[in-house]
Amino acid sequence: MSDHSPQRPKRRLWNHTPALPIRLAPYWDWPSRPVASLIYLLKSWNPIGMRFLFLAAAFIVWRFFTPDLARAEVLAWDWISEILIRNLIILTVVAGGLHLILWAFRLQADEYRYDMRPMMKGAKAFFFKNQVWDNMLWSYVAVIFWTFWESLMWWAYANGWARIITWESNPLWFAAMILLVPIWAGFHFYWLHRLIHVGWLYKRVHAWHHKNINTGPWSGLAMHPVESFFLMFDTMIFFILPAHPVHVIFLLLHHGIGAPTSHAGFERVKVVGTKGVEVGDFFHQLHHRFFDCNYGTYETPWDAWFNTFHDGSDAGNELVKERRKRIWQGG
Ligand SMILES: [Zn+2]
Ligand SMILES: [Zn+2]
Repeated sequence: MSDHSPQRPKRRLWNHTPALPIRLAPYWDWPSRPVASLIYLLKSWNPIGMRFLFLAAAFIVWRFFTPDLARAEVLAWDWISEILIRNLIILTVVAGGLHLILWAFRLQADEYRYDMRPMMKGAKAFFFKNQVWDNMLWSYVAVIFWTFWESLMWWAYANGWARIITWESNPLWFAAMILLVPIWAGFHFYWLHRLIHVGWLYKRVHAWHHKNINTGPWSGLAMHPVESFFLMFDTMIFFILPAHPVHVIFLLLHHGIGAPTSHAGFERVKVVGTKGVEVGDFFHQLHHRFFDCNYGTYETPWDAWFNTFHDGSDAGNELVKERRKRIWQGG
């Protein structure tokens, strides 16, 4: 990798990939594979993985950085603004921090970097003609909606319109909800995302996110406000399912932190003396590069079922080309 000068465009499609072909979670394989599925589930919860870190962050945010629910009984700017500022700080630290480490100071050069294209400057498609500034603007708009959905839940809990459980009152359900939240986040993400890939919804709304053919941490939440409004609509599940506020924050962080990390453009952030922390999401990186594939996540079944799964291999590239041809020809 180091034998290439940074200016020279690479002929290879990717600078770095995970082991190819990438594989989906075995949860939906038929005949079913319970042991493989259990191993995958346990691995997905490894303590330096993103999922575990989101959960840890959710506990910390709830314990130290969330207004007392009693204050949320009445809608008021004082407690809502505290949530807004806290969410702004979370986004700035995560997306801004990753951007500085990986893209601005290039502390690990191109190691673990997927796509060698730079963040775009001078391209009219972006506001301010600058991909990073455009992305920052729309990410901060997304934080307003993040705060909206979160505040709505606290208001509802404070007034008894949604049911709260605690670890003490219902440990089994509390634990089950922790397992359920990532599944629900993936379910919601797939169907919202699939919907906005259709017709004028794509052209008017989702095309904004797809200006980012290569992605950086700020690209994760860089989307049309209609999309960022509905991105965290999945919190409304808590009007139906009893839960603890930690579950609400855990779900919100799947988007609030999950989008910036998964779009980082690098598979890992190196940390001295370790393998580093896995951030990027090659599955979704393929979606940004090829559009008509990988709408969901590693854990959602529909890309496999509807034949839109791109496994990163050359065969996958052909499959997408073939599908595109059929779409253009209307066949
Ligand atoms: Zn898309
Ligand atoms: Zn994306």
